Amino acid sequence: MQDSGAFRPDVAIVGGGVMGAAAAFWLTRMQPGLRVMVLEADPTHARAATALSVASIRQQFTNPVNVAISQFGLQVIRDFPAVVGSDGVGSLALRENGYLFLAGSAEAEAEMRRAAAMQRRMGAATEILDAAALAARFPWLALEGVRLGSFGPEGEGWFDNMGLLAGFRAAARARGAIWRRGRVVALEAAGGRVRGLRLGDGTRLSAGAVVLAAGTWAAGLLRSLGEDWPVEPRKRTVFLIDAPDARHPDAPLLVDHTGFYLRPEGRHWITATVPQHDPAADPEDFEPRLEEFEAVIWPRLYARAPEFAAVKVIRAWAGQYDFNTLDQNAIVGPHPAWPGLYVLSGFSGHGLQQAPAMGRGLAEVLLTGGYRTLDLSELGVERILAGRPFAEGAVV
Ligand SMILES: Cc1cc2nc3c(=O)[nH]c(=O)nc-3n(C[C@H](O)[C@H](O)[C@H](O)COP(=O)(O)OP(=O)(O)OC[C@H]3O[C@@H](n4cnc5c(N)ncnc54)[C@H](O)[C@@H]3O)c2cc1C
Repeated sequence: MQDSGAFRPDVAIVGGGVMGAAAAFWLTRMQPGLRVMVLEADPTHARAATALSVASIRQQFTNPVNVAISQFGLQVIRDFPAVVGSDGVGSLALRENGYLFLAGSAEAEAEMRRAAAMQRRMGAATEILDAAALAARFPWLALEGVRLGSFGPEGEGWFDNMGLLAGFRAAARARGAIWRRGRVVALEAAGGRVRGLRLGDGTRLSAGAVVLAAGTWAAGLLRSLGEDWPVEPRKRTVFLIDAPDARHPDAPLLVDHTGFYLRPEGRHWITATVPQHDPAADPEDFEPRLEEFEAVIWPRLYARAPEFAAVKVIRAWAGQYDFNTLDQNAIVGPHPAWPGLYVLSGFSGHGLQQAPAMGRGLAEVLLTGGYRTLDLSELGVERILAGRPFAEGAVV
């Protein structure tokens, strides 16, 4: 392979979103002197999920490994400047208002009770609230059709998404990681092993290992190796709204079974729905679906909380989930068919909170050949190649 210059990184990371930055941070922290280069096509991150995220964290997952991943994320986010230990990295302004999931069917109720018991065994504070307890705690909610709520009163909330990315990046740079602007157009292999990559301007970079952290763009790059990858962009429109009669700054993030979520954002609110028709999105399509608010969200929101009778949409934006069509769960670790290649992919709308644990796990497996702290092997590439889902039931 023709190298672009003398510098040959030990690890080249494709994508400088939160996953790429977290991986760079943990790699350089675990092995000082390791030569890490992050290739980022768009340093403004205008279309990166990291920047367009709703930036919330919860422990209410149905898989124990996802609970443990978020618990580690929480630890890092709560104490971020001390964890990254770098000058100029600030607090991530975590607001621990909690998450409140509502259940409207017997089936959802049973699943919620099961998941809450597992979360509590793992140290989460999840409480199951019946209709009377919900009414006492959240008197502004109309509870028609609600059987039960699952509420995490602590260890859940929202935080500064770009602060997390910027802090990991600053700390990785302070330890010698290099950020280079450039679009990777292909992964390059020789002798059955990934040995580097090619950039849009034709230059080639060889590397000891390549980490694919390219968000919704990962599948295209794996195609350059002839691999199918079950991750596709799915568009999500987020609305920032003002509701002058609904002032509940301590409200949790409400996940309503009728099909929307809502949380406070300063003196306003953020809300979104999962579209009924949810095909793979055009990767260039970041046009918000404005009709979702009037047609889907507002009637349900008003039915749940009459204080939202008067609402003004202040702003709307669209982001894309890197949606894992097999099981809506993360895909992390070495690619068994391609030595030298490691992936961080398929986060399906819950990757921001997972970045601390994903970056650490990836660094462990890359540097030592195995997981040393939290075992992420259930989320490995093997299940993808075998078509064997490891499903997460609580996907928002
Ligand atoms: C609307 C929305 C709401 C969300 N809400 C939450 C939430 O509340 N909580 C939560 O935990 N998660 C949430 N998520 C998910 C979370 O934001 C993502 O899982 C996470 O940010 C993924 O990070 P990433 O680094 O993998 O991808 P990205 O942030 O998309 O970064 C990928 C980077 O790779 C670069 N890149 C891509 N291709 C190439 C290439 N070929 N060459 C060089 N660079 C390349 C891109 O420019 C980009 O900067 C949400 C996502 C969306 C869209």
